[in-house]
This record gives sequence, C-alpha cells and structure tokens, in this order.
Amino acid sequence: MAKAADSKGDGRVDDFQASLLDRGVLVAQTVPGLCGRGDAFERVVSGLIALTRRIAAADGAERLAFPPVMSRAHLERNGYFSAFPNLAGCVHCFMGGPEDHRRLVGKLVCEEDVADEFRPSKVVLVPAACYPVYPTLSARGALPPEGALIEVASYCFRHEPSTDLARQQSFRMQEFIRVGSPEETMAFRDLWMRRAERLCAMLALPGRVEVANDPFFGEAGRDLGERQRHDALKFEMLLPAGPEGAPRACMSFNAHRDHFGAIWDIRRHDGEVAHTACVGFGLERLTLALFCAHGTELAGWPAAIRDYLGLELTGREDADALSGVIGELAHV
Ligand code: AMP
Ligand code: ZN
Repeated sequence: MAKAADSKGDGRVDDFQASLLDRGVLVAQTVPGLCGRGDAFERVVSGLIALTRRIAAADGAERLAFPPVMSRAHLERNGYFSAFPNLAGCVHCFMGGPEDHRRLVGKLVCEEDVADEFRPSKVVLVPAACYPVYPTLSARGALPPEGALIEVASYCFRHEPSTDLARQQSFRMQEFIRVGSPEETMAFRDLWMRRAERLCAMLALPGRVEVANDPFFGEAGRDLGERQRHDALKFEMLLPAGPEGAPRACMSFNAHRDHFGAIWDIRRHDGEVAHTACVGFGLERLTLALFCAHGTELAGWPAAIRDYLGLELTGREDADALSGVIGELAHV
C-alpha cells in the first residue's frame, strides 16, 4: 500500500490522498467533497466499468440510463427522507417574475445572500443509482417468469462534505438490480459477494466483507440500523481507500426483500409482490483503492492488473493516426 501519514484529525488529507492531488490524478475544488478527475483516474473508472460488465455479461442484464436527478415525490415514496434526510440534495430554482428578479439582482450587487430567492423544484439529486429504476418497473405490469435484471450507472449525490477524498458529495455508482422471488434475489446478492471476493483477489486488493452499518438518521434510525445488522440484509466490501489507507465501503450487496416491490407494486408473473436486491460498485472508491494499493503512477501497476482494466490502451486517439471519414473530420 502507498505510504500514508500526516492526517491526524487536523483536517488535512494524508500523503496518499495528497499525492493524488499533487500528481493531477484528482483535481482539487473549493467545496469539501467535490473534486475533478484527471485522465488516469478516468481510465481506471472506465476499466472498472468494462470489467464488471465482462463479469456480468452472461447474466444478460438490461442496461438503462437515468439522469442524475429524479422526481422528489419518488424519492419521498422510496422512504429516503425518513431514513437519510441529512444526505438528500433537493434542487432549488428561481421561479419568480420580473420584480423578484430585480430583488435578486439587487442582492447580488450588494453581495447579500440570495438563497431565499430560490424555491424547491420537483426534482432531487439521485442518491443511489437504483432509486429511479423501481418506479419505472411498476409501470411495466407483471414481470416475466424469469423476473428482471437491470444495470444502471449514475452520478449520485450525498450531502456529506468531507476532506476525505473517499467521501465525495458527488460520485458514481454502477449497479446491477435483480427483481424476482425471495430465493432469486438472495442468490443474486450472494453470487456477487463471491464474485467480488474473486475480483479483489484478481486486482490484488486486500478486501474484507462485513455486515453493513448504514447511517440511518435520528432515533428511529437507530432501530432501522439495528434491524439491518440483525437481519444481515446488506454487506459491504471494505478496502483501504480513505486517509492513511483507512477502510472504506467500496461495493455493497443489498437485499431489500419486498421493500421496493411493495412501495411500487412491482408484481411477479404469478401476482406475488416482487423482491429486489442490488449490488453497487462505488467507482470513485474502488479507483482510490487501486491507487492506494498500487501507487499513483499507472505505469508502475502490475501488468496483469493493467491488462484486466484495459490500461494498455492509451485512452487518447492520435489525430494523425486517424484515417478515413473520422480523420477528415479531425482536420476540417
Ligand atoms: P450505499 O448505497 O451506501 O451502499 O453506497 C453504494 C456504494 O457507493 C458504496 O459501497 C460506496 O462504494 C459508494 N459510496 C457511498 N457513499 C459515498 C461517498 N460519499 N463518496 C464516494 N463513494 C460513496
Ligand atoms: Zn441500489
């Protein structure tokens, strides 16, 4: 693992995370929990997405893509505001007329706070890639006998500002979601836990799987958390990715039982309420774990790992080498 030091609760990032910024792997922004991604980082993210798709290829998942914002009413119905109100991000917009605009501009000129001039819109930021999927499933009517398997990836938002680069406010999650019987969904979750262990071994990542400990909010949240741990519904793959190589949950394996099926009236072919399970890859955290394990220079990574992630490809096309119609387009 890359040597890490210096972060002793003084708010500074440690050597490993600081070196990612120094070398342009990540690009600092002024708000804690927001950063830009450099080319090396993005190449690893792309490699991870491609790798998980190859592992899952024979499963035949249907690929969907949703915007990183979703209906506020849907997020509310999913139960998010009860469980994690502190993490939610609601989009506010200016909805006034000319008079309101004059007031807004006046405040801007006087450098006053303009937050009051914006009103809640009907959209919120997506907090987990699978959340927009469930409402669309209910619109499909009864599922076929084999159920459904869906792949989605999205930028997700959680309001947890931090100097730890492994705790971003905006990060990408790739997910596979299984919809079917209780047995099918549990088997799917367990299959991915086994796959994830093998994946970590392949990528020489020192992972360990643990029962998840989600930060449910408030008094009621304590009960929800206890029930989640007691029923062992959700597991996480922990990998060194935080300050000084502290472990962070980089993948999660979640059985929801009939939670979403009941909320959205998702029915199996026989009319029973469907169960759901999802496996989520935290793409930024997995990428950080790889940099933590193998160093900040991609060129120094073991050849086999570079190969698994497709890093031998340059990731850039040489415009001079392009031929035909594309080459002509490059030189117009
Ligand atoms: P969860 O829905 O909490 O299980 O999150 C799914 C995955 O997203 C986790 O396993 C993490 O890898 C990743 N993740 C969650 N929160 C963050 C965050 N604040 N910053 C970066 N990645 C995150
Ligand atoms: Zn999910």
